[in-house]
Amino acid sequence: KAGGKKETHKANFEIDLPNAKIGEVVTRFPPEPSGYLHIGHAKAAILNEYFAHAYKGKLIIRFDDTNPTKEKVEFQDSIIEDLALLGIKGDKITYSSDYFDTMYDLAIKMIKLGKAYCDDTPLEKMREERMVGDASARRERSVEENLKIFTEEMKNGTEEGLKNCLRAKIDYKALNKALRDPVIYRCNLTPHHRTGTQWKMYPTYDFCVPTVDSIEGVTHSLRTNEYRDRNPQYEWIINTLGLRKVDIWDFGRVNFVRTLLSKRKLQWFVDKQFVSNWDDPRFPTIRGVRRRGMTVEGLRNFIIAQGPSKNIINLDWSVIWALNKKVIDPVAPRFTAVDAANAVPVILLNGPESNTVEEKPKHKKNPEVGVKKVIYSNKVLIDQEDAASFADNEEVTFMDWGNVIVEKIHKEGDIVKSIDAKLHLEGDFRKTSKKVTWLADTSDKVEVELIDFDHLITKDKLEEGDDFEDFLTPQTEFHSKAIADHNVKSLKAGDIIQFERKGYFRLDQPYAEGKTPVFFTIPDGKTVSRY
Ligand code: ATP
Ligand code: MG
Ligand code: MG
Repeated sequence: KAGGKKETHKANFEIDLPNAKIGEVVTRFPPEPSGYLHIGHAKAAILNEYFAHAYKGKLIIRFDDTNPTKEKVEFQDSIIEDLALLGIKGDKITYSSDYFDTMYDLAIKMIKLGKAYCDDTPLEKMREERMVGDASARRERSVEENLKIFTEEMKNGTEEGLKNCLRAKIDYKALNKALRDPVIYRCNLTPHHRTGTQWKMYPTYDFCVPTVDSIEGVTHSLRTNEYRDRNPQYEWIINTLGLRKVDIWDFGRVNFVRTLLSKRKLQWFVDKQFVSNWDDPRFPTIRGVRRRGMTVEGLRNFIIAQGPSKNIINLDWSVIWALNKKVIDPVAPRFTAVDAANAVPVILLNGPESNTVEEKPKHKKNPEVGVKKVIYSNKVLIDQEDAASFADNEEVTFMDWGNVIVEKIHKEGDIVKSIDAKLHLEGDFRKTSKKVTWLADTSDKVEVELIDFDHLITKDKLEEGDDFEDFLTPQTEFHSKAIADHNVKSLKAGDIIQFERKGYFRLDQPYAEGKTPVFFTIPDGKTVSRY
Protein backbone atom coordinates (compact mmCIF):
# COMPACT_ATOMS: atom_id res chain seq x y z
CA LYS A 1 0.00 0.00 0.00
CA ALA A 2 2.76 2.40 0.99
CA GLY A 3 4.56 1.55 -2.25
CA GLY A 4 1.54 2.47 -4.34
CA LYS A 5 1.22 5.73 -2.53
CA LYS A 6 4.86 6.63 -3.09
CA GLU A 7 4.40 6.13 -6.85
CA THR A 8 1.70 8.80 -6.99
CA HIS A 9 3.83 11.13 -4.91
CA LYS A 10 6.71 10.71 -7.29
CA ALA A 11 4.59 11.82 -10.22
CA ASN A 12 4.10 15.18 -8.59
CA PHE A 13 7.73 15.85 -7.87
CA GLU A 14 9.31 16.96 -11.07
CA ILE A 15 12.62 17.89 -9.55
CA ASP A 16 15.25 15.30 -8.81
CA LEU A 17 18.04 15.57 -6.30
CA PRO A 18 21.42 16.38 -7.84
CA ASN A 19 24.01 13.58 -7.85
CA ALA A 20 21.54 11.14 -6.37
CA LYS A 21 22.09 7.43 -6.84
CA ILE A 22 19.49 4.80 -6.07
CA GLY A 23 20.33 3.06 -2.81
CA GLU A 24 22.84 5.68 -1.67
CA VAL A 25 20.82 8.72 -0.75
CA VAL A 26 20.80 9.74 2.92
CA THR A 27 18.61 12.65 4.03
CA ARG A 28 17.89 13.99 7.46
CA PHE A 29 15.20 15.90 9.28
CA PRO A 30 16.87 17.95 12.02
CA PRO A 31 14.32 19.45 14.42
CA GLU A 32 15.50 21.38 17.41
CA PRO A 33 13.64 20.00 20.46
CA SER A 34 12.52 23.50 21.44
CA GLY A 35 8.81 23.20 20.73
CA TYR A 36 6.18 20.99 19.14
CA LEU A 37 6.28 20.29 15.42
CA HIS A 38 4.23 22.62 13.28
CA ILE A 39 2.91 22.32 9.78
CA GLY A 40 6.07 23.88 8.33
CA HIS A 41 8.15 21.17 9.96
CA ALA A 42 5.75 18.63 8.48
CA LYS A 43 6.73 19.84 5.02
CA ALA A 44 10.43 19.44 5.79
CA ALA A 45 9.93 16.02 7.37
CA ILE A 46 7.74 14.69 4.56
CA LEU A 47 10.10 15.98 1.84
CA ASN A 48 13.10 14.35 3.49
CA GLU A 49 11.22 11.11 3.89
CA TYR A 50 9.94 11.30 0.36
CA PHE A 51 13.42 11.59 -1.18
CA ALA A 52 14.96 8.98 1.11
CA HIS A 53 12.36 6.47 -0.02
CA ALA A 54 12.15 7.54 -3.65
CA TYR A 55 15.87 6.78 -3.94
CA LYS A 56 15.68 3.69 -1.72
CA GLY A 57 18.01 5.40 0.70
CA LYS A 58 17.87 6.29 4.36
CA LEU A 59 16.30 8.98 6.53
CA ILE A 60 17.92 10.17 9.72
CA ILE A 61 15.88 11.95 12.37
CA ARG A 62 18.39 14.15 14.13
CA PHE A 63 17.65 16.16 17.22
CA ASP A 64 19.57 19.34 16.77
CA ASP A 65 20.11 19.86 20.47
CA THR A 66 22.88 22.40 20.76
CA ASN A 67 21.12 25.11 22.74
CA PRO A 68 20.24 23.90 26.25
CA THR A 69 18.43 27.15 27.06
CA LYS A 70 15.54 26.29 24.73
CA GLU A 71 15.47 22.50 24.68
CA LYS A 72 13.51 19.98 26.71
CA VAL A 73 12.85 16.24 26.85
CA GLU A 74 9.12 17.00 26.65
CA PHE A 75 9.63 18.50 23.19
CA GLN A 76 11.87 15.67 22.08
CA ASP A 77 9.27 13.06 23.02
CA SER A 78 6.45 14.99 21.36
CA ILE A 79 8.45 15.24 18.12
CA ILE A 80 8.89 11.46 17.95
CA GLU A 81 5.18 10.96 18.57
CA ASP A 82 4.14 13.53 16.00
CA LEU A 83 6.41 12.09 13.34
CA ALA A 84 4.93 8.66 14.03
CA LEU A 85 1.49 10.19 13.64
CA LEU A 86 2.53 11.45 10.21
CA GLY A 87 3.68 7.95 9.37
CA ILE A 88 7.33 8.99 9.37
CA LYS A 89 9.84 6.70 10.95
CA GLY A 90 13.50 7.44 10.48
CA ASP A 91 15.97 4.66 9.77
CA LYS A 92 17.77 5.98 12.81
CA ILE A 93 17.42 8.65 15.44
CA THR A 94 20.50 10.65 16.31
CA TYR A 95 21.37 13.69 18.40
CA SER A 96 23.75 16.50 17.59
CA SER A 97 24.85 16.15 21.21
CA ASP A 98 26.18 12.66 20.37
CA TYR A 99 28.90 14.50 18.46
CA PHE A 100 29.98 17.06 21.04
CA ASP A 101 33.36 15.34 21.45
CA THR A 102 33.88 15.09 17.71
CA MET A 103 32.88 18.70 17.13
CA TYR A 104 35.18 19.81 19.92
CA ASP A 105 38.07 18.05 18.19
CA LEU A 106 37.12 19.58 14.86
CA ALA A 107 37.03 23.05 16.40
CA ILE A 108 40.53 22.48 17.77
CA LYS A 109 41.61 21.34 14.33
CA MET A 110 40.24 24.55 12.87
CA ILE A 111 42.12 26.65 15.41
CA LYS A 112 45.33 24.77 14.65
CA LEU A 113 44.81 25.42 10.95
CA GLY A 114 44.66 29.11 11.81
CA LYS A 115 41.04 29.15 10.63
CA ALA A 116 39.28 30.01 13.88
CA TYR A 117 39.87 32.49 16.69
CA CYS A 118 38.51 33.31 20.11
CA ASP A 119 36.88 36.69 20.37
CA ASP A 120 35.85 38.65 23.46
CA THR A 121 34.62 41.70 21.57
CA PRO A 122 31.40 42.84 23.29
CA LEU A 123 28.28 41.64 21.45
CA GLU A 124 27.11 45.04 20.24
CA LYS A 125 30.49 45.95 18.91
CA MET A 126 30.87 42.59 17.19
CA ARG A 127 27.51 43.07 15.52
CA GLU A 128 28.55 46.52 14.34
CA GLU A 129 31.87 45.23 12.97
CA ARG A 130 30.16 42.44 11.10
CA MET A 131 27.67 44.93 9.73
CA VAL A 132 30.24 47.32 8.30
CA GLY A 133 32.91 44.74 7.49
CA ASP A 134 35.60 45.61 10.02
CA ALA A 135 38.06 43.09 11.38
CA SER A 136 37.84 42.16 15.04
CA ALA A 137 40.74 43.33 17.21
CA ARG A 138 41.16 39.65 18.18
CA ARG A 139 41.32 38.30 14.66
CA GLU A 140 45.10 37.87 14.71
CA ARG A 141 45.40 36.10 18.04
CA SER A 142 47.98 33.32 17.92
CA VAL A 143 47.05 29.68 17.60
CA GLU A 144 48.47 29.06 21.11
CA GLU A 145 46.41 31.81 22.67
CA ASN A 146 43.25 30.63 20.88
CA LEU A 147 43.84 27.04 21.95
CA LYS A 148 44.35 28.09 25.54
CA ILE A 149 41.18 30.17 25.66
CA PHE A 150 39.10 27.56 23.87
CA THR A 151 40.28 24.44 25.70
CA GLU A 152 40.71 25.94 29.16
CA GLU A 153 38.61 29.06 29.58
CA MET A 154 35.64 28.47 27.29
CA LYS A 155 35.53 24.72 27.87
CA ASN A 156 35.34 25.23 31.61
CA GLY A 157 32.98 28.16 31.38
CA THR A 158 35.29 30.43 33.38
CA GLU A 159 34.68 34.15 33.69
CA GLU A 160 37.18 34.72 30.91
CA GLY A 161 35.67 31.89 28.86
CA LEU A 162 32.17 33.34 29.14
CA LYS A 163 33.37 36.59 27.57
CA ASN A 164 34.64 34.73 24.52
CA CYS A 165 33.19 32.92 21.59
CA LEU A 166 34.94 31.00 18.82
CA ARG A 167 34.64 32.42 15.32
CA ALA A 168 35.51 30.91 11.95
CA LYS A 169 38.13 33.03 10.22
CA ILE A 170 36.58 33.28 6.79
CA ASP A 171 36.38 36.79 5.37
CA TYR A 172 35.36 39.77 7.49
CA LYS A 173 34.71 41.90 4.40
CA ALA A 174 32.80 39.34 2.35
CA LEU A 175 29.83 40.70 0.42
CA ASN A 176 27.85 37.76 1.74
CA LYS A 177 27.57 38.70 5.39
CA ALA A 178 27.13 35.08 6.41
CA LEU A 179 30.83 34.70 5.62
CA ARG A 180 31.94 37.51 7.93
CA ASP A 181 33.58 35.28 10.52
CA PRO A 182 30.48 33.54 11.93
CA VAL A 183 30.42 32.40 15.55
CA ILE A 184 30.88 28.63 15.76
CA TYR A 185 31.06 28.00 19.53
CA ARG A 186 29.64 29.88 22.47
CA CYS A 187 29.44 29.30 26.21
CA ASN A 188 26.20 28.43 27.98
CA LEU A 189 26.08 27.31 31.61
CA THR A 190 22.52 25.97 31.43
CA PRO A 191 22.57 22.19 31.96
CA HIS A 192 21.84 20.25 28.78
CA HIS A 193 18.90 17.84 28.82
CA ARG A 194 21.13 15.00 27.65
CA THR A 195 24.69 15.82 28.59
CA GLY A 196 23.94 17.62 31.83
CA THR A 197 26.77 19.88 33.02
CA GLN A 198 29.49 18.08 31.08
CA TRP A 199 29.74 20.93 28.59
CA LYS A 200 29.91 24.64 29.27
CA MET A 201 30.11 25.56 25.58
CA TYR A 202 28.18 24.45 22.55
CA PRO A 203 28.65 24.51 18.76
CA THR A 204 26.33 26.87 16.92
CA TYR A 205 23.90 25.77 14.25
CA ASP A 206 26.31 27.04 11.57
CA PHE A 207 29.11 24.75 12.74
CA CYS A 208 27.04 21.82 13.86
CA VAL A 209 24.94 21.24 10.75
CA PRO A 210 27.71 20.84 8.14
CA THR A 211 30.00 18.82 10.40
CA VAL A 212 27.32 16.43 11.62
CA ASP A 213 25.75 16.12 8.15
CA SER A 214 29.12 15.08 6.80
CA ILE A 215 30.02 12.73 9.65
CA GLU A 216 26.63 11.02 9.64
CA GLY A 217 26.85 10.21 5.95
CA VAL A 218 24.13 12.59 4.81
CA THR A 219 24.33 12.91 1.02
CA HIS A 220 21.66 15.57 0.55
CA SER A 221 21.03 18.30 3.03
CA LEU A 222 17.56 19.76 2.43
CA ARG A 223 17.34 23.31 3.72
CA THR A 224 14.73 26.00 3.52
CA ASN A 225 16.03 28.66 1.19
CA GLU A 226 16.17 31.41 3.76
CA TYR A 227 19.53 29.73 4.50
CA ARG A 228 20.75 30.20 0.96
CA ASP A 229 23.23 32.90 2.02
CA ARG A 230 24.67 30.47 4.49
CA ASN A 231 25.35 27.76 1.93
CA PRO A 232 28.86 29.03 1.08
CA GLN A 233 29.64 29.07 4.79
CA TYR A 234 28.43 25.48 5.10
CA GLU A 235 30.69 24.48 2.23
CA TRP A 236 33.63 26.45 3.64
CA ILE A 237 33.44 24.57 6.93
CA ILE A 238 33.36 21.18 5.20
CA ASN A 239 36.23 22.08 2.86
CA THR A 240 38.38 23.65 5.56
CA LEU A 241 38.07 20.60 7.79
CA GLY A 242 38.58 18.23 4.85
CA LEU A 243 35.26 16.53 5.48
CA ARG A 244 33.15 14.58 2.99
CA LYS A 245 31.13 16.80 0.63
CA VAL A 246 27.35 17.07 1.07
CA ASP A 247 24.92 18.34 -1.57
CA ILE A 248 22.67 21.12 -0.40
CA TRP A 249 19.16 21.23 -1.82
CA ASP A 250 16.96 24.23 -1.10
CA PHE A 251 13.19 24.30 -0.81
CA GLY A 252 10.69 27.03 0.03
CA ARG A 253 9.32 27.56 3.50
CA VAL A 254 5.57 27.28 3.87
CA ASN A 255 3.69 30.04 5.57
CA PHE A 256 -0.03 30.39 6.07
CA VAL A 257 -2.09 33.54 6.25
CA ARG A 258 -2.84 34.76 9.78
CA THR A 259 -0.55 32.10 11.20
CA LEU A 260 2.68 32.21 13.15
CA LEU A 261 5.10 29.39 12.44
CA SER A 262 7.77 30.15 14.95
CA LYS A 263 8.23 28.08 18.05
CA ARG A 264 9.25 31.14 20.02
CA LYS A 265 6.03 32.98 19.14
CA LEU A 266 3.87 29.91 19.70
CA GLN A 267 5.50 29.48 23.11
CA TRP A 268 4.42 33.06 23.85
CA PHE A 269 0.75 32.16 23.27
CA VAL A 270 1.12 29.14 25.54
CA ASP A 271 2.85 31.16 28.28
CA LYS A 272 0.25 33.95 28.12
CA GLN A 273 -2.53 31.35 28.21
CA PHE A 274 -4.08 32.65 25.01
CA VAL A 275 -4.29 28.99 24.07
CA SER A 276 -4.69 25.92 26.24
CA ASN A 277 -1.44 24.30 25.19
CA TRP A 278 0.65 23.27 22.18
CA ASP A 279 -2.19 21.04 20.99
CA ASP A 280 -4.72 23.86 20.99
CA PRO A 281 -7.01 23.60 17.95
CA ARG A 282 -6.10 27.17 16.98
CA PHE A 283 -2.42 26.25 16.75
CA PRO A 284 -0.65 25.33 13.49
CA THR A 285 1.12 22.50 15.27
CA ILE A 286 0.62 18.96 14.01
CA ARG A 287 -1.31 18.30 17.20
CA GLY A 288 -3.34 21.46 16.89
CA VAL A 289 -4.49 20.88 13.33
CA ARG A 290 -5.19 17.23 14.11
CA ARG A 291 -7.36 18.29 17.02
CA ARG A 292 -9.16 20.69 14.77
CA GLY A 293 -10.06 17.77 12.51
CA MET A 294 -7.23 17.56 10.01
CA THR A 295 -6.50 14.00 8.91
CA VAL A 296 -2.99 12.70 8.40
CA GLU A 297 -3.98 11.82 4.85
CA GLY A 298 -5.24 15.35 4.20
CA LEU A 299 -2.04 16.81 5.56
CA ARG A 300 0.21 14.51 3.57
CA ASN A 301 -1.76 15.04 0.37
CA PHE A 302 -1.39 18.75 0.86
CA ILE A 303 2.39 18.67 1.34
CA ILE A 304 2.85 16.31 -1.57
CA ALA A 305 0.67 18.46 -3.83
CA GLN A 306 2.85 21.40 -2.83
CA GLY A 307 5.87 19.42 -3.82
CA PRO A 308 9.31 20.83 -3.47
CA SER A 309 8.28 24.32 -4.49
CA LYS A 310 11.06 26.83 -4.05
CA ASN A 311 8.79 29.80 -3.63
CA ILE A 312 8.16 31.07 -0.17
CA ILE A 313 4.44 31.03 -0.19
CA ASN A 314 1.82 32.48 2.06
CA LEU A 315 -0.91 29.91 1.76
CA ASP A 316 -4.53 30.24 2.51
CA TRP A 317 -5.89 27.65 4.90
CA SER A 318 -8.85 27.00 2.60
CA VAL A 319 -6.70 24.85 0.28
CA ILE A 320 -5.64 22.40 2.95
CA TRP A 321 -9.09 22.21 4.55
CA ALA A 322 -10.69 21.60 1.16
CA LEU A 323 -8.29 18.69 0.63
CA ASN A 324 -9.15 17.39 4.07
CA LYS A 325 -12.84 17.54 3.26
CA LYS A 326 -12.25 15.23 0.32
CA VAL A 327 -10.74 12.73 2.74
CA ILE A 328 -13.44 12.90 5.41
CA ASP A 329 -16.60 13.32 3.36
CA PRO A 330 -16.75 9.75 2.02
CA VAL A 331 -16.32 8.21 5.47
CA ALA A 332 -17.72 10.60 8.08
CA PRO A 333 -20.88 9.15 9.65
CA ARG A 334 -23.92 11.42 9.55
CA PHE A 335 -25.88 12.40 12.64
CA THR A 336 -28.53 14.94 13.46
CA ALA A 337 -28.31 18.04 15.60
CA VAL A 338 -30.68 20.95 16.13
CA ASP A 339 -29.62 24.34 17.51
CA ALA A 340 -30.51 24.36 21.19
CA ALA A 341 -31.34 28.07 21.16
CA ASN A 342 -35.08 28.25 20.41
CA ALA A 343 -35.39 24.72 19.06
CA VAL A 344 -38.99 24.32 17.90
CA PRO A 345 -41.20 21.39 18.98
CA VAL A 346 -43.34 20.07 16.16
CA ILE A 347 -46.41 18.08 17.17
CA LEU A 348 -47.28 15.54 14.49
CA LEU A 349 -51.02 15.14 15.02
CA ASN A 350 -51.12 11.85 13.10
CA GLY A 351 -47.64 10.71 14.13
CA PRO A 352 -46.76 7.30 15.59
CA GLU A 353 -48.65 6.64 18.83
CA SER A 354 -45.59 5.23 20.46
CA ASN A 355 -41.97 5.76 19.53
CA THR A 356 -40.53 3.43 16.94
CA VAL A 357 -36.90 2.78 16.13
CA GLU A 358 -35.42 1.96 12.73
CA GLU A 359 -31.92 1.14 11.59
CA LYS A 360 -30.63 3.60 9.01
CA PRO A 361 -27.26 3.93 7.30
CA LYS A 362 -24.85 6.39 8.88
CA HIS A 363 -23.74 7.36 5.39
CA LYS A 364 -26.11 7.10 2.46
CA LYS A 365 -23.41 6.50 -0.14
CA ASN A 366 -21.10 4.32 1.92
CA PRO A 367 -22.72 1.34 3.63
CA GLU A 368 -19.39 0.41 5.22
CA VAL A 369 -19.82 3.26 7.66
CA GLY A 370 -22.52 1.21 9.36
CA VAL A 371 -25.97 1.84 10.75
CA LYS A 372 -27.54 3.96 13.45
CA LYS A 373 -30.86 3.80 15.26
CA VAL A 374 -33.28 6.53 14.27
CA ILE A 375 -36.20 7.21 16.62
CA TYR A 376 -39.59 8.23 15.17
CA SER A 377 -41.99 10.02 17.47
CA ASN A 378 -45.06 12.22 17.32
CA LYS A 379 -43.07 15.05 18.83
CA VAL A 380 -39.89 16.22 17.10
CA LEU A 381 -37.56 19.19 17.29
CA ILE A 382 -36.44 21.35 14.38
CA ASP A 383 -34.22 24.42 14.01
CA GLN A 384 -35.76 27.81 14.71
CA GLU A 385 -34.38 29.03 11.39
CA ASP A 386 -36.24 26.33 9.47
CA ALA A 387 -39.44 26.81 11.45
CA ALA A 388 -39.38 30.57 10.91
CA SER A 389 -39.35 30.05 7.17
CA PHE A 390 -42.58 27.98 7.12
CA ALA A 391 -46.00 29.26 6.11
CA ASP A 392 -49.33 27.87 7.26
CA ASN A 393 -50.39 24.88 5.13
CA GLU A 394 -46.98 24.61 3.52
CA GLU A 395 -45.83 21.11 2.60
CA VAL A 396 -42.20 20.43 3.56
CA THR A 397 -40.01 17.32 3.73
CA PHE A 398 -38.60 15.90 6.94
CA MET A 399 -35.36 14.31 5.79
CA ASP A 400 -35.33 10.50 5.69
CA TRP A 401 -38.92 10.36 6.80
CA GLY A 402 -41.34 11.99 4.41
CA ASN A 403 -43.51 15.00 3.74
CA VAL A 404 -45.26 16.99 6.43
CA ILE A 405 -48.02 19.56 6.13
CA VAL A 406 -47.68 22.52 8.47
CA GLU A 407 -51.05 23.22 10.06
CA LYS A 408 -50.50 25.88 12.66
CA ILE A 409 -47.49 27.96 13.65
CA HIS A 410 -47.50 29.27 17.22
CA LYS A 411 -45.38 32.40 17.59
CA GLU A 412 -44.37 34.82 20.32
CA GLY A 413 -43.20 37.91 18.50
CA ASP A 414 -40.93 36.66 15.74
CA ILE A 415 -40.00 33.50 17.59
CA VAL A 416 -41.72 30.28 16.65
CA LYS A 417 -42.70 28.50 19.86
CA SER A 418 -44.25 25.35 18.42
CA ILE A 419 -45.84 23.94 15.31
CA ASP A 420 -48.80 21.64 14.76
CA ALA A 421 -48.35 19.52 11.66
CA LYS A 422 -49.47 16.34 9.94
CA LEU A 423 -47.43 13.64 8.32
CA HIS A 424 -48.23 13.33 4.64
CA LEU A 425 -46.09 10.35 3.73
CA GLU A 426 -47.79 9.91 0.33
CA GLY A 427 -46.50 13.37 -0.61
CA ASP A 428 -43.71 13.70 -3.20
CA PHE A 429 -40.45 14.98 -1.69
CA ARG A 430 -39.37 16.14 -5.14
CA LYS A 431 -42.13 18.72 -5.06
CA THR A 432 -41.12 20.42 -1.81
CA SER A 433 -38.46 23.10 -1.60
CA LYS A 434 -37.55 22.65 2.07
CA LYS A 435 -35.75 19.57 3.33
CA VAL A 436 -35.60 19.86 7.07
CA THR A 437 -33.49 18.17 9.72
CA TRP A 438 -35.53 16.87 12.64
CA LEU A 439 -34.90 15.00 15.83
CA ALA A 440 -37.33 12.96 17.95
CA ASP A 441 -37.98 14.87 21.15
CA THR A 442 -37.47 11.95 23.49
CA SER A 443 -35.43 11.54 26.65
CA ASP A 444 -32.66 9.93 24.58
CA LYS A 445 -31.57 13.18 22.99
CA VAL A 446 -28.28 14.69 24.16
CA GLU A 447 -27.19 18.24 24.65
CA VAL A 448 -23.82 18.91 23.01
CA GLU A 449 -21.48 21.85 22.84
CA LEU A 450 -20.18 23.08 19.49
CA ILE A 451 -17.04 25.19 19.34
CA ASP A 452 -15.84 27.12 16.33
CA PHE A 453 -12.48 28.89 16.19
CA ASP A 454 -10.89 31.81 14.43
CA HIS A 455 -7.29 32.64 13.57
CA LEU A 456 -5.17 33.94 16.42
CA ILE A 457 -4.03 36.98 14.47
CA THR A 458 -5.91 39.40 12.24
CA LYS A 459 -3.30 40.30 9.64
CA ASP A 460 -2.84 38.04 6.63
CA LYS A 461 0.89 38.57 6.37
CA LEU A 462 3.00 40.14 9.06
CA GLU A 463 5.70 42.34 7.61
CA GLU A 464 9.23 42.93 8.85
CA GLY A 465 8.87 45.20 11.83
CA ASP A 466 5.27 44.22 12.62
CA ASP A 467 4.80 43.06 16.17
CA PHE A 468 2.38 40.15 16.23
CA GLU A 469 1.13 41.28 19.62
CA ASP A 470 -0.48 44.26 17.86
CA PHE A 471 -2.61 41.95 15.73
CA LEU A 472 -4.24 39.60 18.20
CA THR A 473 -7.77 38.55 17.27
CA PRO A 474 -10.05 39.72 20.09
CA GLN A 475 -12.18 36.58 20.16
CA THR A 476 -11.08 33.28 18.72
CA GLU A 477 -13.49 30.81 20.32
CA PHE A 478 -17.24 30.63 19.68
CA HIS A 479 -19.47 28.34 21.70
CA SER A 480 -23.00 27.21 20.98
CA LYS A 481 -25.27 24.46 22.23
CA ALA A 482 -27.11 21.93 20.15
CA ILE A 483 -29.36 18.95 20.75
CA ALA A 484 -28.08 15.84 19.07
CA ASP A 485 -29.44 12.38 18.43
CA HIS A 486 -28.64 9.66 20.96
CA ASN A 487 -26.22 7.89 18.58
CA VAL A 488 -23.49 10.44 19.36
CA LYS A 489 -23.26 9.01 22.88
CA SER A 490 -21.18 6.13 21.58
CA LEU A 491 -18.66 8.25 19.66
CA LYS A 492 -15.06 8.33 20.84
CA ALA A 493 -12.72 11.26 21.24
CA GLY A 494 -11.20 12.10 17.87
CA ASP A 495 -14.11 10.78 15.82
CA ILE A 496 -14.95 12.91 12.81
CA ILE A 497 -18.61 13.19 11.89
CA GLN A 498 -21.07 15.31 9.97
CA PHE A 499 -24.12 16.86 11.55
CA GLU A 500 -26.36 16.96 8.53
CA ARG A 501 -26.81 20.44 7.09
CA LYS A 502 -24.44 21.83 9.74
CA GLY A 503 -21.03 20.63 8.68
CA TYR A 504 -18.18 18.46 9.84
CA PHE A 505 -17.15 18.17 13.44
CA ARG A 506 -14.50 16.41 15.46
CA LEU A 507 -15.46 15.09 18.86
CA ASP A 508 -13.00 16.46 21.36
CA GLN A 509 -14.66 15.36 24.57
CA PRO A 510 -16.91 12.31 24.42
CA TYR A 511 -20.19 11.79 26.17
CA ALA A 512 -20.10 10.56 29.73
CA GLU A 513 -22.68 10.55 32.51
CA GLY A 514 -23.03 14.19 33.55
CA LYS A 515 -20.62 15.44 30.87
CA THR A 516 -21.59 17.39 27.80
CA PRO A 517 -19.87 16.14 24.66
CA VAL A 518 -17.78 18.82 22.98
CA PHE A 519 -17.46 19.01 19.20
CA PHE A 520 -15.10 21.27 17.24
CA THR A 521 -16.19 22.64 13.88
CA ILE A 522 -13.89 21.39 11.13
CA PRO A 523 -13.20 24.13 8.60
CA ASP A 524 -14.48 23.13 5.17
CA GLY A 525 -12.28 25.43 3.16
CA LYS A 526 -15.07 27.97 2.69
CA THR A 527 -15.31 29.61 6.09
CA VAL A 528 -13.75 33.03 6.38
CA SER A 529 -12.53 34.85 9.45
CA ARG A 530 -15.00 36.97 11.34
CA TYR A 531 -12.40 39.74 11.61
P1 ATP B 1 11.22 27.79 14.49
O1 ATP B 1 11.53 29.10 13.88
O2 ATP B 1 9.77 27.52 14.63
O3 ATP B 1 12.02 27.49 15.71
P2 ATP B 1 13.08 26.28 13.01
O4 ATP B 1 13.22 26.35 11.56
O5 ATP B 1 14.13 26.94 13.80
O6 ATP B 1 11.63 26.76 13.37
P3 ATP B 1 13.85 23.59 13.47
O7 ATP B 1 13.40 22.65 14.52
O8 ATP B 1 15.25 24.04 13.49
O9 ATP B 1 12.89 24.81 13.54
O10 ATP B 1 13.46 23.05 12.03
C1 ATP B 1 13.58 21.72 11.60
C2 ATP B 1 13.44 21.68 10.12
O11 ATP B 1 12.16 22.16 9.69
C3 ATP B 1 14.46 22.57 9.43
O12 ATP B 1 15.02 21.84 8.37
C4 ATP B 1 13.68 23.75 8.95
O13 ATP B 1 14.22 24.32 7.81
C5 ATP B 1 12.31 23.13 8.67
N1 ATP B 1 11.24 24.13 8.77
C6 ATP B 1 10.94 24.90 9.83
N2 ATP B 1 9.92 25.73 9.55
C7 ATP B 1 9.56 25.48 8.27
C8 ATP B 1 8.55 26.02 7.38
N3 ATP B 1 7.73 26.98 7.77
N4 ATP B 1 8.46 25.50 6.14
C9 ATP B 1 9.28 24.51 5.75
N5 ATP B 1 10.23 23.97 6.52
C10 ATP B 1 10.39 24.45 7.76
MG1 MG C 1 16.15 26.13 14.28
MG1 MG D 1 13.43 29.45 12.73
